[in-house]
Amino acid sequence: MNITINKRSIFAVILGISLVAVVTACAVDKQGENKKLTVFATTGYIGDTVKNIAPDADVTVMVGPGGDPHTYQPTTQDTEKISSSDLVFWSGLHMEAHMIDQLKSQGDRQVAVAEAIPKEDLLDWPDLGENGEKLYDPHVWNSTENWKYVVQAITDKLAATDPDNKDKYQENAKKYEQSMDETAAYVREKINAIPEDKRILITGHDAFNYFGKQFGLEIRATDFVTSESQISPAEIKELGEYIAEKQIKTIFQDNLANPQAINSLQETVKAGGWEVTISDKELFADSLGPNPPVDTYLGVMKYNADTISAALAS
Ligand SMILES: [Zn+2]
Repeated sequence: MNITINKRSIFAVILGISLVAVVTACAVDKQGENKKLTVFATTGYIGDTVKNIAPDADVTVMVGPGGDPHTYQPTTQDTEKISSSDLVFWSGLHMEAHMIDQLKSQGDRQVAVAEAIPKEDLLDWPDLGENGEKLYDPHVWNSTENWKYVVQAITDKLAATDPDNKDKYQENAKKYEQSMDETAAYVREKINAIPEDKRILITGHDAFNYFGKQFGLEIRATDFVTSESQISPAEIKELGEYIAEKQIKTIFQDNLANPQAINSLQETVKAGGWEVTISDKELFADSLGPNPPVDTYLGVMKYNADTISAALAS
């Protein structure tokens, strides 16, 4: 009797496995018919760009509003998504510092999009890499001219992976580049509204050097987030004197601010005989915001320009 039961049990198990196998096969076939392209993007800037080029793709963004891609450690869920996505787009240029090996090991599915930008268009970065290698400023999205290379790199990879939609991707990229040009013109107008000797942007996080280069702003920061070293008291004093001398009205925090450095900077300026205000509006440096208009790359560019212009032009 016992043997019979066991045999039955085994048969039931085998039948069960077979049924599961059949069901799974059907699901795969069904999915295969109209499967969406799945894309993993490490930052909101990259994710939003992918959505503009491939609106039908299923895009997962790793670093959400307020997050810091420099120090981000992937979750188990991120790691699963990285492994299972059709494509993995990441910044590169040492931005995702804790994930470089993991991202590179995805082989042909991964592209470090910022590395499509010609070296001569990149700005130097004060830190060196782990092996003493020269690094470049990774905040390349803050120049629309830089980001066009990224748009092209993403479009090429999408087209190579999904050639049936190649024309559509290229058409969308062209439209997106037009929107980027319109946004750049808007930003330029806003920055040009600031008196020339007041076009000095002082922020918490050192993320706006490309923005300054493209739109004609001098950039100073109080916090080098990727660096081990924080701003020294001597550097704060020097910057404080500079703000007092130039009579800069407003300095900014951003979404990766170091409030302590900003506050002691304000004190130093006061000691130098000038009052500087810390803006209560944050600039978006490394991640997008949660809601419109700052939940898109171009929305953030405009918002930052409006905020900087309103503070420095008045
Ligand atoms: Zn940054």
